[in-house]
Amino acid sequence: MAGDRLGPGDNACRVEIVNGTFCARVFKSPQPPFVKGGIFPKEKIMTVAEAKIRVGVSACLIGQNVRWDGGHKRDDVVADVLGRLFEWVPVCPEVEAGMGAPREAVGLYGGRERPLMLGNDFGTDWTEKMILYSMKRIEELIALGICGFIFKSKSPSCGMAGVPVYAEPENGLMRLGRGMFSDAFMKRYPSIPAEDESRLNDPGIRGNFIVRVFDYYRFLQEGSCGRSGEIPRGA
Ligand code: SF4
Repeated sequence: MAGDRLGPGDNACRVEIVNGTFCARVFKSPQPPFVKGGIFPKEKIMTVAEAKIRVGVSACLIGQNVRWDGGHKRDDVVADVLGRLFEWVPVCPEVEAGMGAPREAVGLYGGRERPLMLGNDFGTDWTEKMILYSMKRIEELIALGICGFIFKSKSPSCGMAGVPVYAEPENGLMRLGRGMFSDAFMKRYPSIPAEDESRLNDPGIRGNFIVRVFDYYRFLQEGSCGRSGEIPRGA
C-alpha cells in the first residue's frame, strides 16, 4: 500500500491519529465492471503521507534557488517535517512571471488594495504581468487538486500579511498588506487552507493546518464522488 496514490474509486472517509501519525481510513469502492450486490468495499488505512495530498508551497521554502539574489529560504519545518506528509507543488510567482533569478528585487507601492509591483532599483513595472500570471497559475493549481498552500512570509508576491506597501517609491511611508500572488489566491479560493511559513513552527498551528488540509482533501473527494463518481485528482 505504501507509495500508492489514491485513484478513481477510492474514497477517503476520515482522518485519525494512529500511534502519533496522521492517518486516513480509506474505503476502496467497487471498480467497474460493477456487479450489483457482488462486490463489497474493502477498507485500507494509509498515512497522510501515503495519500500524497498535493499542497502548494513557495518554492524558496523547500530550497529552490529562486530568490532575487539567486538563493533560497529553506525552512526546516516546511521542508523536513511537512515535506514528509505532503506532495509539494512548488511555485515561485516572480520567476514564473518572467523575472528570472537572480533579479532586481521588487516591492509594492501605492494603495493597499491595488498596489503596483515595481523594481526597487530601476522601477521596472511588473504589476500587469504578475496579475495575469497569478490568474492563470491559480487555476492551474486548482486543476492539479492542491488542498492547501504554504506561503513565504513578508514577500511582496507571497506574503499573507505584514508586507510593506510603500506610499511612493523613495518615500518611507508605508502600510502593511499582502503579497500580490497570495492576495489573488486567497481572494479567489478563500476556503483552501493557507498558512504563513513563519507560523508553522508552532506545533498547534502546524497540527491544525494538517487537519484542515486533510479535511479539504476529503471535502474534494466526497464532493466530486457525489457529482461524478470520480475523485478530482484523477491520479
Ligand atoms: S517568496 Fe515567493 S516570489 Fe519570493 S522567492 Fe520565494 S517563492 Fe519566489
